Amino acid sequence: MATPFDRSSSSVLVIDDSRAIRRIIRATLEQRRLFSAYHEASNGEEGLSVAAAVAPDMILCDLDMPVLDGFGFLRRFRAVEANRSAFVLMLSGSGESRNKVEGFSLGADDYIVKPCDPAELCARVSNYLRLKQLQAQLERQNDELERKNRELAALATIDPLTGLHNRRYFLTAVEGEVASARATSTPGSVLMIDIDHFKRINDTLGHAQGDAALVAVASTVRRTLRSSDVVARFGGEEFVAWMPQTSAADGAAIGERIRAAVASCRIAGVPWTVSVSIGSSSLDLDAHEPIDAVLARADAALYAAKQGGRDRVVSASGVASVRTAA
Ligand SMILES: [Mg+2]
Repeated sequence: MATPFDRSSSSVLVIDDSRAIRRIIRATLEQRRLFSAYHEASNGEEGLSVAAAVAPDMILCDLDMPVLDGFGFLRRFRAVEANRSAFVLMLSGSGESRNKVEGFSLGADDYIVKPCDPAELCARVSNYLRLKQLQAQLERQNDELERKNRELAALATIDPLTGLHNRRYFLTAVEGEVASARATSTPGSVLMIDIDHFKRINDTLGHAQGDAALVAVASTVRRTLRSSDVVARFGGEEFVAWMPQTSAADGAAIGERIRAAVASCRIAGVPWTVSVSIGSSSLDLDAHEPIDAVLARADAALYAAKQGGRDRVVSASGVASVRTAA
């Protein structure tokens, strides 16, 4: 048993130079409620402009017509990409095989010889409209799937709590940035930012306050940086930023701006000042090092910042010179 189709959304275009035939077809289809919108045209040329305006689900097209005949109509109608899925039924007084073959080869879906039995015409039209609706339903489901796939792809790169990118995205995106920085010999710097005594917030105030602190610090970091900087939650209470076209000195200075901005921000539900420790490092353009090496230096600098008393920025070049001095 065929699935019934929704008659409330089917539109039909009848193209025939005989007004009497158009009237009979309309009445026949109307009697069985086979369309919700009816359109007509008296030749192929007119049919093309009506079809372009109303995008019918189904077209019943006569073969012999003045101005532009059924074949001419089909040829030009099917040449338009958007018209490929409309169903076209050819109606002709001629049952000659070569006409049928010509019609099918030009893109007709069916070919009916006039005069035809009204019940048969309706059965065919009804079937095509049902197919058309199934096709439209599949297209909708396809669009929906594509939309969901895009959403999933976006989710896979974003940290849901802070809305920043995640570690995975950062590493992939920055790999490309590092390559282009090296290719153009432009500097680039990295900041590793870690919330001080984060465990104390979670342990004494609860996880909701811990989350509020993460969100507040994330948005302060994002706000302080440029849109061209890549910022991510690296894990836990740690954030990372890649700043293209930024020297080591500028990177450390921007780190200091972030540190000061976090220190001056009040977090709802947290009765003390939350601070961050920051390690900065920059890309060594002479060494063909991967981003991991730059991150490792920033991490070492961050460790030094923690050891030095927290709420401070330490740059990797500073750490290196301290080590050299020692
Ligand atoms: Mg005719």
